[in-house]
Amino acid sequence: MNVLLIGSGGREHALAWKLAASPLLTKLYAAPGNPGIAREAELVALDVSNHGAVVAFCREKAVDLVVVGPEGPLVDGIADALRAAGIRVFGPSGHAAQLEGSKGFTKDLCARYDIPTAAYGRFDNAADARAYVEKVGAPIVIKADGLAAGKGVTVAMELQEALDAVEACFDGAFGSAGASVVVEEFLTGEEASFFCLCDGTTALPFGTAQDHKRVGEGDTGPNTGGMGAYSPAPVMTQEMIDRTMDEIVAPTMRGMAEMGAPFTGILFVGLMLTENGPKLIEYNVRFGDPECQVLMMRLKDDLLVLLNAAVDGQLGHVSTRWRDDTALTVVLAAEGYPDAPKKGSVIKGVEEAGAGDIQIFHAGTAFKDGNLVANGGRVLNVTGMAAKVSDARSKVYAALDRIDWPEGFCRRDIGWRAVEREG
Ligand code: ATP
Repeated sequence: MNVLLIGSGGREHALAWKLAASPLLTKLYAAPGNPGIAREAELVALDVSNHGAVVAFCREKAVDLVVVGPEGPLVDGIADALRAAGIRVFGPSGHAAQLEGSKGFTKDLCARYDIPTAAYGRFDNAADARAYVEKVGAPIVIKADGLAAGKGVTVAMELQEALDAVEACFDGAFGSAGASVVVEEFLTGEEASFFCLCDGTTALPFGTAQDHKRVGEGDTGPNTGGMGAYSPAPVMTQEMIDRTMDEIVAPTMRGMAEMGAPFTGILFVGLMLTENGPKLIEYNVRFGDPECQVLMMRLKDDLLVLLNAAVDGQLGHVSTRWRDDTALTVVLAAEGYPDAPKKGSVIKGVEEAGAGDIQIFHAGTAFKDGNLVANGGRVLNVTGMAAKVSDARSKVYAALDRIDWPEGFCRRDIGWRAVEREG
C-alpha cells in the first residue's frame, strides 16, 4: 500500500516509524514531515490546506490511504475532500471533528446524551457570561469555544481572574475561537487520557496515558503542548476503562451517528477521575502528542492493518495486543519554550543516544549546513520502555543525557505519579 501521512511532529514520527514496520506498506510519503520522519518516508512539500493539491498528489502517486496526524486539517475538512474524491482516509469528517473544534458542540452533545462532564453554560456575549460566572463563583473554568492551541482555557481560582478571562475571549485574544465561550464547573481529581480507535460504529479501546502539560517540574509554570507522557496510566484501572466506555464513549458514538456524523479515527478522551467516577474534560479527534509516541512503543500489532480496519468499518472483527511494559517519553524543548523558543542551535549526539531500544522521535528539528538544529518549541522525544515505570524513566534520562544540546531543556520528573504509585 502507498500511504500519505500528514503532519510534522513527534506524533507523526512515531506513526511513520510504526507504519514503516508494516509488511503491507509499499511506499510512505509524509507532508511536510521532519528530518526524523525522512528516515521512514519520502517527504513532500504539499500545502495541506489546499485540498485540491492533496487529492491531485494522491491520484498521481496512487495513494491507498491518507493518515492525518494533527487536528487542524481535520477540522478544516480534509477528510471530506479526500472521501469525496474516492480516496481512503483515516480521520473524522469536518462535522465529526467538531468534537475537538468546538467545546460547545461537545458540551451540548454531553447534555443531550447524559454523558458525565462538568456543568456548564455556553455564551456568545460577555454580559451573559459574566453574569453566569458571578452567579457560580470561583473556582471556575473559562474556555474559548474553538481551537486555540491549548491556550484558550483559564482555570480561575479567583472570581476576578475568571471575569478577566471572559473579557479577554470576547476582546479577541483567541480570534474567532473566542467568539463563543464555555464556562464550566471546576472539577477535582486526577487527569488521564484514554484512546479509542473508531470506525463510525465500533470504538476499540486503544490504550491509556498520562501527560505533563506544564512546562516546569512539579507541574508548575505555563501550559505547553506536553512535556512528556507514559503509558499505561495505572490510575486507569479496568473498572475506570469499562465505565468510560459505557458512560462516555458509547453514547458519544451513538450520538455522532444519530446526527449523521459517525466518528472515524482516533477519539482521544481527556478525563478527570473524580470521586463520582470519570468525567469528560475534552475530546480530541486525533492522537495526543506526546501520548502517541508511548502508545506506538507498546502496540504489538500492525498499525496499518488496524487503520485499514477502522477505515473499512471492520473494527468489530479485530482486537489489539499491547506490551505490558511501561513506555515513557521525555520532551526536549528549545530554550524559551513555550513563549518564545529559540531556533537554530545545533544538537549533537542524537544518533548515539538513540542506540539500543531507545527511540528518539523528532518534532521541531531541521538540517542546516549538515547539522541537526532546533526548529521549533518541542524538538525531540526521547522514548524508552521497561517493566517498571522507574526503570523506564532511568533509561530515558540516561539516553537523554548523552545528547549534547546546551540550549535545550526538559522536565526531570516525567512519570512522577506512576513512580509514586509504584512505591
Ligand atoms: P489541550 O491543550 O489539552 O488540547 P484544551 O485547550 O483543549 O487543552 P482542555 O483540555 O479543555 O483545553 O483544558 C486544559 C486543561 O485545563 C485540562 O487539561 C485541565 O487540567 C484543566 N481543566 C479543563 N477543564 C477543567 C475543569 N472543568 N475543571 C478543572 N480543570 C479543568
